[in-house]
Amino acid sequence: MKIIDGKAISAKCKAETAEEIKALTADGRRAPCLAVILVGDAPASAVYVRNKKRACELVGITSLEYLLDKDEPEAKLLELIDFLNKDESVDGILVQMPVPKHIDPERVIEAISPDKDVDAFHAYNVGKLFTGAPRFMPCTPAGVMRLLKESGVSVSGKNCVVVGRSNIVGKPMSALLLAEDGTVTVCHSRTKNLAEITKTADILVAACGRPNMITGDMVKEGATLIDVGINRVGDKLVGDLDFDSCAEKAEYITPVPGGVGPMTIAMLMENTVTSYKMRFNLI
Ligand code: NDP
Repeated sequence: MKIIDGKAISAKCKAETAEEIKALTADGRRAPCLAVILVGDAPASAVYVRNKKRACELVGITSLEYLLDKDEPEAKLLELIDFLNKDESVDGILVQMPVPKHIDPERVIEAISPDKDVDAFHAYNVGKLFTGAPRFMPCTPAGVMRLLKESGVSVSGKNCVVVGRSNIVGKPMSALLLAEDGTVTVCHSRTKNLAEITKTADILVAACGRPNMITGDMVKEGATLIDVGINRVGDKLVGDLDFDSCAEKAEYITPVPGGVGPMTIAMLMENTVTSYKMRFNLI
């Protein structure tokens, strides 16, 4: 059994991005720029925003932070997005989710210019992904694909099972695995006989947000097990895989924390550079 070290792979990706930015800006061109908007002061969201800012600093992306009061009307947020859409010095726009209840997340996502949608949540970019011509890669699923690639796990012809069908993880995950010629099954809360299906997986991606739900008896000997779940149980973070029992069966497995989690931000940095290169006609 080998543990896939997401922290190390993420660091490698960020170092590569930093190198690329150095080369792109060597002739005096401005650095890529990511604008992050946070509405309200939810502690978890504030941590995510801080981590994104740190990663930007590390790789050489200019980060702009906009903090809106939790009661700010939706129109104010849409106005800010419109302003950033038109600002040629901004390459990526990200609104930290979740937004307060009086704001419609769908409207917010659709307001971001698809050319600056570095989260790849806009319907245009989702469509591009499912037609096989993505511009921006959905960050968490792209992080999973990178972990597989860096670990030498090929997807082609493999049985891939994704547990979870959210717009953020499960659905785009299935699209990326399919694009790499995996045979993909997507499970969800209405799936019957989940264990029978997960046992067929050569590559299993758990993204159901249920602590330790997938146990060793539900997985195949020699499988690659990817745990997207981040669940707080007491003062501990645990995944959707029951790590100890699953590790006994797996050939490869990701830990929580230190597996998929660190990859998401690394992929966000890459998307911001992609957007920058599109803006300057470099791709
Ligand atoms: P959602 O709650 O949006 O989706 C969960 C999915 O799991 C749903 O499709 C749901 O089915 C399915 N599900 C729930 N219970 C079961 C069950 N008992 N059996 C089978 N399927 C089930 O979560 P997200 O996709 O946003 O996130 C999933 C997990 O990944 C969370 O723990 C989250 O914290 C983590 N996460 C980690 C990230 C990272 O950077 N590593 C980034 C984003 C998320 P149904 O559709 O039928 O309700």
